[in-house]
Amino acid sequence: MGIVAQKMAAVKGSQTRAMTQLAADLRAQGRKVIALTQGEPDFATPSNIISAATRALEAGHTKYTPTPGIPELREAIVRKLRRDNGLDYKASQVTVGVGAKQVLFDMLFASLDAGDEVVIPTPCWGSYVEMVQLAGGVPVTLATRAEQRFVPQPEDLARAITPRTKWLMLNSPNNPTGSVCSEDELLAIAEVLRRHPQVWLLTDDIYEKLVYDNTQFRTIPQLAPDLVERTVVINGVSKAYSMTGWRLGYAAGPQEIIDAANIVQSQTVSHPASVSQYAALEALEGPQDFLPGFVQSFVERRNLIVNRLQAMPGLECPIPQGAFYVFPSCRNLFGRRTPDGGTIDNDTDLAMYLLGSAGVALVPGGSAFLAPGHIRISYAQSRANIVEACDRMDEALRALR
Ligand code: PLP
Repeated sequence: MGIVAQKMAAVKGSQTRAMTQLAADLRAQGRKVIALTQGEPDFATPSNIISAATRALEAGHTKYTPTPGIPELREAIVRKLRRDNGLDYKASQVTVGVGAKQVLFDMLFASLDAGDEVVIPTPCWGSYVEMVQLAGGVPVTLATRAEQRFVPQPEDLARAITPRTKWLMLNSPNNPTGSVCSEDELLAIAEVLRRHPQVWLLTDDIYEKLVYDNTQFRTIPQLAPDLVERTVVINGVSKAYSMTGWRLGYAAGPQEIIDAANIVQSQTVSHPASVSQYAALEALEGPQDFLPGFVQSFVERRNLIVNRLQAMPGLECPIPQGAFYVFPSCRNLFGRRTPDGGTIDNDTDLAMYLLGSAGVALVPGGSAFLAPGHIRISYAQSRANIVEACDRMDEALRALR
């Protein structure tokens, strides 16, 4: 009998983190590796946010806070949800956690009994599946298609739902595909949910601010107010404000689930760091004028990388409308031989080949995002790194036979 619980047998660690670590290990051996793995903007956190955090520390805000977060921050989140999303919540219906990741986990842990099912459209952020399993639930994947911009189709969703379904997890703009659901597509999903009153919606809106080419961000509770009573909205400051390391995310939803999630939080992490809460307050209430610059910079980098990838042999790369990932198919490369005699049989083989021979780290889609035959590349990177990574990838792909 080992010490590790049987329930852990089904749970994997983050593949994105594993690839990032492999890249770091190679770097430590003196290799020049470009890591396009992490979903992390490369900008500094805006200086007004850093100053607000410093002032908070100097003012002595270094102690425990209420479990769901400081009241000022929850009020600011209420205003944000009203201003940006037309949603009306009371501050008591808002909770803040250690990143959107922890808030998501709290929601699942607080709601799932053994055998409860959660429908997860794939490709998906792999953490959804692992979190559902950690929380004792059963992930039910719902495959989407590149030809349909990876948008879940209503008839497929209806088929995936059973009497045990508790949640649909939706993420638009999407990690890893960068796909954004249109208003009509969201309304079609809402229509299916209306027919299944036992199903709640967990809408992960973390990439809300990162949409391109006149794409509009929409979220189901805004379009279908009748579903607000069974929807939890997840968001945070990591991606929009370049604050990944501050670990601050939030949720808003019906009182019963927020209260239950707060119990989980009160018995585990207590609350996110006090300094991060004051920083997030400034992010949400302070000037937003740097955002168009962030967005413009991502658009330029997306255009650069998509153009380069589309010209590479064997890759098929759609143009994503949001987030900061591209998600090309690499199926056409399967069966090819590497210069040292290996074979590329799947996306992991390709990722390992590119890491070893080109010094470019990216994330294989099969293990990390439940989308075999794809690779995810994060373009939240300097232009110079993107150009160099593309040069190296191009050369390595042309060397395949
Ligand atoms: N949701 C999605 C879809 C993500 O891709 C990520 C981060 O990669 C998160 C949530 C977590 O963000 P946070 O840094 O707030 O925990």
